[in-house]
Amino acid sequence: MTTRRLCLVMGDQLSFDLPSLQGIDPRHDCILLVEVMEEATHVPHHPQKIALVFSAMRHFADALRQRGFTVQYVHLEDPDNSGSIPGELLRWQALTQAAEVHVTECGDWRLEQSMRDCGLPIQWHSDSRFLCSRDEFRRWAKGKQQLRMEFFYREMRRKSRLLLNGDGSPVGGAWNFDEDNRKPLPKKVVAPYPLHVPRDAITDEVIALVARRFASHYGSLASFDYPVTHAEAQALWAHFLDFGLAAFGDYQDAMASNEPYLFHARISAALNIGLLDLRQLCSDVEAAYWAGSVPLNAAEGFIRQLIGWREYVRGVYWLQMPEYAQGNLFGNSRSLPEFYWTADTRMHCMRQAIGQSLTHAYAHHIQRLMVTGNFALLAGITPSEICEWYLAIYMDAFEWVELPNTLGMVMHADGGYLGSKPYCASGQYIKRMSNYCGDCAYKVSESTTEDACPFNALYWHFVIRHRDRLGHNPRMAMVYKNLARMTEEKQLALWDRGQTLLARLDAGQQL
Ligand code: FAD
Ligand code: SF4
Repeated sequence: MTTRRLCLVMGDQLSFDLPSLQGIDPRHDCILLVEVMEEATHVPHHPQKIALVFSAMRHFADALRQRGFTVQYVHLEDPDNSGSIPGELLRWQALTQAAEVHVTECGDWRLEQSMRDCGLPIQWHSDSRFLCSRDEFRRWAKGKQQLRMEFFYREMRRKSRLLLNGDGSPVGGAWNFDEDNRKPLPKKVVAPYPLHVPRDAITDEVIALVARRFASHYGSLASFDYPVTHAEAQALWAHFLDFGLAAFGDYQDAMASNEPYLFHARISAALNIGLLDLRQLCSDVEAAYWAGSVPLNAAEGFIRQLIGWREYVRGVYWLQMPEYAQGNLFGNSRSLPEFYWTADTRMHCMRQAIGQSLTHAYAHHIQRLMVTGNFALLAGITPSEICEWYLAIYMDAFEWVELPNTLGMVMHADGGYLGSKPYCASGQYIKRMSNYCGDCAYKVSESTTEDACPFNALYWHFVIRHRDRLGHNPRMAMVYKNLARMTEEKQLALWDRGQTLLARLDAGQQL
């Protein structure tokens, strides 16, 4: 019997509700999943991320078979594996003689382009796992002088009817409680113990494969304890609802030594590959609020990340690619320091954020934005190099979400889609929001001495060197006022110390 329909399911599309899987006939149609070298190596992905995707794919293929579907699964080391997704699609269309090929739109512009160019007449499906389709975002953006996440978010609140009163106004009288989400962690507050998911035989087999084939990639496999099935992802989510969500709002921006997760959900990787459903997450959070078990700043803060930021960055990505990836507003050209790949630095905050990224393929938002990201912004790192690092190092990193966050939010290289001013900060911010500075070899109270916190002088060096571009930005007015209040001598000393630090980076020295 010939195949009527060939449905490709990619490693970040492991959802039974995937549009291209709807209406398929187990007797005549075939589902294809492929492990390919090209996707595992186009950047040196963290070994835990490759293990997650391959193991979750293998589990999903089994679950589809149990539901009666015909599944073709191509393993990485199958001798006929062509090594790329378009290559496998062409090969399996020829083998099955499928009359139709169905694919749900990709997360990466690069991959989608290569499939659109591969010569097969693919029937594309819009990805309904998101609240806002690419077309809907395009319509929303049309004619607007400036795109602002806050206004998009309000549209999404109205559309989803989440946390709204009967008359359509926001619960609590405001759309956004971000002001209440910026508390440092008090000494007596203890973060919940993270959920460890035990590995099964499939995951063990994948881990052995990844250890063998991707030994040169940075990052450790040893601590892999992440969900690889829908049921395990639900357990992780339930753990967060029980132990994390109530304090998520208050301590969303806090950082602490040897606390990689604090009150964060750790769900991004599971959500991005299809093991969790966005709408269910949002309605669970809303239900917890209505039940009185979590405060509004937690519920609203969490929902804002999901239907605000997450949907917004995806919209910007598909609106602006491929030009978006070339953005380099400040004309940066400095190479990414080696310590991003090793955590070998005396800056304690950087050692913590990079170290846990290598160990767990995870860092929470403020570590990514205000520690590793802030350093890259202040040091003038080439945007494409720091973008590649984020894409490689995190388990949840897929280009549609990683690129706008890094190139836009962190590097301000897109000129302001993700933020009306750069998220630049001195060591004082890190001191306020963490307990890192107490354990550091540098002194956060100093700016120009040899043992001064590098963030301090680099911050002022950044402010001075981009005065022409940022000096007119009303949101930077206070910063430039503070600069103007400094004596020329002080400004010169900060500049010189910044120059010294940047020269050390250029010489490949550790900081
Ligand atoms: P929580 O803090 O518990 O937040 C809940 C959820 O909200 C997350 O799981 C995520 O789905 C969503 N979310 C929160 N902030 C954002 C955001 N800015 N953009 C999109 N979704 C958001 N997230 C990714 O999923 N993949 C990435 O590759 C990625 N790269 C990033 C790079 C940089 C430089 C920065 C600053 C942020 C990046 N983020 C990325 C966003 C955010 O840091 C992660 O989603 C979050 O840290 C994941 O951990 P969590 O599940 O514990 O999130
Ligand atoms: Fe980071 Fe500076 Fe604090 Fe050290 S002193 S932990 S480098 S902010």
